[in-house]
Amino acid sequence: MNFADFHRRSIEQPDAFWAEQAQLIDWHKPFDTVCDYSRPPFVHWFAGGQTNLCHNAVDRHLKDRADQNALIWVSTEVDKEICYSFRELHAEVQRMAACLIELGVKKGDRVLIYMPMIAEAAFAMLACARIGAIHSVVFGGFASVSLASRIDNATPVVIVSADAGSRSGKVVPYKGLLDEAITLAAHKPARVLMVDRGLAPFARVAGRDADYGELRRKHIDARVPCEWVDATHPSYTLYTSGTTGTPKGVQRDTGGYCVALAASMKHIFLGQPGETYFSTSDIGWVVGHSYIVYGPLIAGMATIMYEGLPTRPDAGIWWSLVEKYKVTAMFSAPTAVRVLKKQDPAYLSKYDLSSLRALFLAGEPLDEPTAKWIAEALGKPIIDNYWQTESGWPILTIANGVEKAPSKFGSPGVPMYGYNVKLINESTGEEIRAADEKGVVMIEGPLPPGCMQTVWQDDARFVKTYWTELAGKQLYSTFDWGVRDADGYYFILGRTDDVINVAGHRLGTREIEESISSHPNVAEVAVVGVADNLKGQVAMAFVIAKDASGLTDNAARLKLEGDIMKLVDGQLGAVARPARVLFVSALPKTRSGKLLRRALQAVAENRDPGDLTTIEDPSALQQVKELVAQK
Ligand code: ATP
Ligand code: MG
Repeated sequence: MNFADFHRRSIEQPDAFWAEQAQLIDWHKPFDTVCDYSRPPFVHWFAGGQTNLCHNAVDRHLKDRADQNALIWVSTEVDKEICYSFRELHAEVQRMAACLIELGVKKGDRVLIYMPMIAEAAFAMLACARIGAIHSVVFGGFASVSLASRIDNATPVVIVSADAGSRSGKVVPYKGLLDEAITLAAHKPARVLMVDRGLAPFARVAGRDADYGELRRKHIDARVPCEWVDATHPSYTLYTSGTTGTPKGVQRDTGGYCVALAASMKHIFLGQPGETYFSTSDIGWVVGHSYIVYGPLIAGMATIMYEGLPTRPDAGIWWSLVEKYKVTAMFSAPTAVRVLKKQDPAYLSKYDLSSLRALFLAGEPLDEPTAKWIAEALGKPIIDNYWQTESGWPILTIANGVEKAPSKFGSPGVPMYGYNVKLINESTGEEIRAADEKGVVMIEGPLPPGCMQTVWQDDARFVKTYWTELAGKQLYSTFDWGVRDADGYYFILGRTDDVINVAGHRLGTREIEESISSHPNVAEVAVVGVADNLKGQVAMAFVIAKDASGLTDNAARLKLEGDIMKLVDGQLGAVARPARVLFVSALPKTRSGKLLRRALQAVAENRDPGDLTTIEDPSALQQVKELVAQK
């Protein structure tokens, strides 16, 4: 089928379109209405219908593939690999569900999951879905303050956690942080369910902390049926990455999400039942929810859950897994590819990757040098996809499962079915219809199935944060800049707050970064606008050099800085030329690998960097502070 027609139908006849997609999943009770948009911008998909995420991810596959792999857990941290068939996963999820029920969890209760990348984390998510509890996974790398604020927001009855994670072979204890977070939080969970991996000793709080190993044994033969819930019943809450400010608690439904994932596995990710999917993300992020746990399993695929670094024991580890498990679709992030790019490319040709159809990348802009490098090294299609925690599945990409279409470097692709994407001129509020004109990427309501229902416990924040009414229509803002070319392909130019204004010229930081990263000695770059008395703002670039060995020498450093400035002059014009190019060994990033531009900009302007609870490595910011002070 022609994708343009497919997309048009999804927008013009959404009821017929989505009723058809809804056949990809099992319903306990059929829905009465496909799309109830009587109270915009709130939308109810598949109202009146009843289903269950866990049933669709696990139980319904028992008939055809009980003994096929469902969850393949690989840890290069503790050197273990366990394959769970659908039958075994079914048993484990029921054991976990029985434990949660014993600890008092009921339908609609929240369960906070604060776990490393271990199979029990997936069991816990699926067990919640099974009994109609709402999970809230908090990334295991967060420390007590971030965790406490999420505990207060989700108000869980039970927290599921583990003694420790492990990073680069070093044990990272969790329990102390959890106890501290519970002390800090105003809300106190009734019970804590601890998975003891035997990595780090921990103190137990009597009457509150329960041992998973012990309870699991007690419920070894548990039979816990799926609780049929309304399609609109919340399945989970999940926080955005906090790149631009305080994280937002995204609330997702059940039926719409299940349908959206099933459809995306078919149309976008080309996943076939019985095959293996490998997403390198973490269950703490939306990619982990949609494409480690739910999406592949709903599609009847085996999914690989990987605990470890992409470079340990060596940079071939991911590709060795592709070979071993005949992975057909792989999903990662540009930041991970950049890590691999610094390693010997021979690792990529060492393994048999013939099973792999494509590598999907998302989460941040995919710069051309990185895209070209991985495309050449792998010899496979690289499919960029643009979306958000809020959307739950891709907004812009290429749906090769509907119609094969070429990708363009630098573009994630075209609007996906269900998304009525518009570019809006920020100053006039009018829709941009011409090609190559920059605007804010917005989506006309209703948002398609799978997207956020609201901000958890805060309908007003949902409306106020995301929605604007333009010409009688409700528009959702992605807060990203974009441009569409004559072929309808979109290019994301950065966040709406990433624009710098140099003497009246509005420049996207992304364009300057693209230009700088084409210099052969630039591994990574971040550009921010800093206040300037004369020009209003000027660009300042922070660069990680590929080869920094010569840069301790002042003259060499100034030469490279000059070369980079000349490059920008030549490509974009002098107006975009950074006032300074400073060399650093690391950039401040969130734990999901996104550049913390607002913090970088604040420090570059000698201001307080604000909320840093999601930062990965505070020393990166310290380095910037020192450089800026020296200048
Ligand atoms: P917060 O909303 O809390 O500030 P965040 O926006 O970083 O954090 P996420 O939902 O994890 O949280 O990230 C979504 C954002 O990531 C998008 O709005 C966009 O800016 C960026 N992004 C994701 N995928 C792509 C892509 N393929 N190309 C360009 N940018 C992308
Ligand atoms: Mg965001």
